[in-house]
Amino acid sequence: MEYILVVFLSYVSWQWMSLYLFATSINKRKKAVKIIKDKNLLDTIFTKTGLRLASIRVSSSLKPWGMMIGLPRYPYMILSQGMYDSFDKSEVEYVLLHESGHYILAHSAKLAILYISFLIMGFIFISTIQIPLMWIAAALIIGLIQIQMSRLCEYEADAFTLQRMTNPKGMIMATKKFANAYKHFDVVRHDEDAFLGRLIYMGIPYNERIRNAEAEIKKRLKNN
Ligand SMILES: [Zn+2]
Repeated sequence: MEYILVVFLSYVSWQWMSLYLFATSINKRKKAVKIIKDKNLLDTIFTKTGLRLASIRVSSSLKPWGMMIGLPRYPYMILSQGMYDSFDKSEVEYVLLHESGHYILAHSAKLAILYISFLIMGFIFISTIQIPLMWIAAALIIGLIQIQMSRLCEYEADAFTLQRMTNPKGMIMATKKFANAYKHFDVVRHDEDAFLGRLIYMGIPYNERIRNAEAEIKKRLKNN
């Protein structure tokens, strides 16, 4: 029983944002996910990253987001309908390359291995310490460490993306659209100096992401 509690609590405290985004796909009238074969998108991914996807899944969520799940050899890219409908070419390019970067850099696999290792340590810990409050603390600590590790993956995926983008301005515009769509999460997402944000949210703060894109634009101007 306590093992299930630790798995559940640690997973939710780590992946709360993804779970929230999946929840926004639940719509009684629409199918949660449909499979599309948008040639433009699939070609962009292949020419820029070398990743050949047969299809992309589109979730009925009206919030803008993209996600890469699956393990090596089995990539599943999911885009939300909200993003698919409202992002222009260079903004979509940012999301496509960023999500492809997660797959090519094997982020899900690395995070899964790390998570399982932490769980095993957590299980050893709770089998020796019979204090329920300590089990909860162990679960939350596992979740918070996974968040920090996930953020490292975010930086890596963004760096991968910036090197390959045709128009890095797309990253700035996309980030502004994300910021606008998730205003209600500002307390954790917006301020890069916010300790709470760094602690519980795995994403890169918006203003930092915009600065990184601006630096790439400047670098390209200088090299031309
Ligand atoms: Zn990401």
